[in-house]
Amino acid sequence: MPSEQIQNLLILQDRDRVRMDLEAQLESIPREIESNRRKIVHEEETARNAREELLKLENRRKTLEGEMEELNRKIVRYKNQQLEVKKNEEYQALNHEIETVNGKISALEDEEIQVLLDIDERKQAADEAEKASRENISVYEGRIAKLEERGEDCRRELKEALERSSKARASVDSAWLEVYDRLLEHVRFPVVVSLSEKKCQGCHLKVSAGVESDARYGKEIAACDNCGRILYSES
Ligand SMILES: [Zn+2]
Repeated sequence: MPSEQIQNLLILQDRDRVRMDLEAQLESIPREIESNRRKIVHEEETARNAREELLKLENRRKTLEGEMEELNRKIVRYKNQQLEVKKNEEYQALNHEIETVNGKISALEDEEIQVLLDIDERKQAADEAEKASRENISVYEGRIAKLEERGEDCRRELKEALERSSKARASVDSAWLEVYDRLLEHVRFPVVVSLSEKKCQGCHLKVSAGVESDARYGKEIAACDNCGRILYSES
């Protein structure tokens, strides 16, 4: 049975474990929330980009329609001029102009067909991107809500844990507490460990005979020769 000092220290260590775990969670929760927020922004951007690509195509289509209308008006003008010209070569020249313009219209029509096909494709892609984004965003928002809730719980639990740690500290001798606190700063948790087969259960190295005997009696602080952790003997 470990000495009373050790038993009190082990109670403190258990409560500090809970406290430190809560503190670690409180530290990581804002980072996790931030990471989910960044994912939401990314999702929104992806959906917006898909929509913008579609908009560009729709604008191109409008431009093409405008250009074709302009060319058609040109043809009407040429045809009206043809009614007024007197010489055959003038008439033929206008015919040539009309053919040229018709060629341009035909090229624009071809382009428009391709643009319309692209619009169909892009529209489907944009709809799918938006749907996926909405779904993903709702997952991230759900995670954020849970994290915020967990943060609230942690803050409440931490308040309690601090009180419990503080009560446990009151039962530990100040000299032991000083060593314990220093170890908490420098050594990986746990800092009060048992001695098993003459080995420190913190660093797993064998300790000297003097330390082993201190650990067995539990009157003096038995510090591991290697890592400095406080040792105690179960027996
Ligand atoms: Zn050790």
